[in-house]
Amino acid sequence: MTITTACPPQSAPGPVLFRAGCPHCRENFELTAGALRLAIGGSARTTFYSFSCPACGEAVRKPAGDRIVELLTTGGVRTMRLHAAR
Ligand SMILES: [Zn+2]
Repeated sequence: MTITTACPPQSAPGPVLFRAGCPHCRENFELTAGALRLAIGGSARTTFYSFSCPACGEAVRKPAGDRIVELLTTGGVRTMRLHAAR
C-alpha cells in the first residue's frame, strides 16, 4: 500500500530538508542536515555553509546570514566554529 502526501505533516519527526542550489551545474535539490556543514567565523564574511553537490559533485560554499545560521543549527546541521582564540 502506498500513501502519497502532497506535503509532509508538520508534526512528523523526520529529517529536515534544506533547499539548495548549485552554482556549478545550476541544479536545485533538497539536502538533509547531514549533507550540510556550517562554519561560523568571526564575521559575516567568514560564516558560510558548504555541501557537495549531489548532481555534479562540486564542493559548494555559500555565505550564511543570521537567518540561515539559525535555520541550519536548529535543523541539526553540524556546526564548526572558526573563532580564533585570542
Ligand atoms: Zn552541481
